[in-house]
Amino acid sequence: MARQGTIVTAAPSQGSRLAEVLAGLDQACVVVDAAGRVVESSGPIDALIGATPAAGSLLAETLRGGEAEGAPVFAGEGSHLARAGAAGGVAWRSPLRGVDVEVDAGPRVLGVALRPLASGETAVYLSDGAQLREILEAQDALISITSHELKTPLTAIKAMAELMISYDLGEAQRKEMTGDIYRQAERLEQLIREILDASQLDSGRMPLDLQPTRLKDVLAEVVEELETQMEGRKLTVKLPADMPLLMVDWAKLSQVLVNLLTNAVKYSPEGAPVAVRAMSQNGMVRVEVRDQGIGIRAEDQGRLFKKFQRIQDAGGRRTPGTGLGLYIVKGLVELMGGAIEVSSKHGQGSTFAFTVPAWEAPR
Ligand code: ADP
Repeated sequence: MARQGTIVTAAPSQGSRLAEVLAGLDQACVVVDAAGRVVESSGPIDALIGATPAAGSLLAETLRGGEAEGAPVFAGEGSHLARAGAAGGVAWRSPLRGVDVEVDAGPRVLGVALRPLASGETAVYLSDGAQLREILEAQDALISITSHELKTPLTAIKAMAELMISYDLGEAQRKEMTGDIYRQAERLEQLIREILDASQLDSGRMPLDLQPTRLKDVLAEVVEELETQMEGRKLTVKLPADMPLLMVDWAKLSQVLVNLLTNAVKYSPEGAPVAVRAMSQNGMVRVEVRDQGIGIRAEDQGRLFKKFQRIQDAGGRRTPGTGLGLYIVKGLVELMGGAIEVSSKHGQGSTFAFTVPAWEAPR
């Protein structure tokens, strides 16, 4: 209750306003004393680690297990925190990839910066390092997968060209090798196209040309394009007679279908049937691509649409690929205003289903 004579206003006091401002930052700050005990904390500490360390507790008891540059970050005499807090302590910043710690709520990746204060205490700045780590890991994957996927066809092209230069080959052999060189060059071209597509989607620069489009026509073109790759698989297409027009980018829809159908072929045994069907629902059209192939385990289904995610089958067999295909498919479907999902049973087959908007005739 307000004492008489005190002016009561609805505005927050300076302290609580500052706390509110600090809580809105991406970085939290914990001040610890020379013994590593928490003095106070501010900013979004609870959102970062799921708890606010109690004043007087050891910070190392809340943030457990962090190590960087060969030393513990928070716990013990040789830790970065102890060194920052020692007389004449020096500031320290965690490497770009952040520090792995265990908190009560589970594992976390934190960016950490330590700054000695004039009072002899240390300011510990904490930020979420998970996103940056994900970006750095994607960069590593890009380098390792692309160099592998570039090297394999290039080595084959080089070897075949060498043979053709060094030996007097018959017409038939020459033709066969030229065909192989052409297919390997196509694989290289596809890889470069995928990297460019992923980068355009990431940067929001993917051009889009939405037009009223007949699904039947796009499918006819796609089926013709894939005819030689079906390897004896029977492809059935079922569309309802009253299928509305779609409001899509023809080339992008075609790319989505080619990709899903190529995967259906790639991950199913020769002769296994592949089916496409579509239905309209609430202003959208749902298209399903179903195969009876190797299927995908439930625990792997969540990461399929992420960049560079590939799943090794039980036999350790690796089909060529970059793990960019479904990432691009998802990006294109979402760009056109739809969504994509997978349902699959390991060993029995998969269904990839996506939606795109139906075209509404102007009234
Ligand atoms: P890529 O085929 O180049 O590896 P994708 O992004 O198209 O990349 O697919 C990612 C992974 O998802 C594949 O490596 C494969 O393990 C799995 N996958 C995709 N489609 C299917 C499918 N129809 N059946 C079983 N597994 C699939």
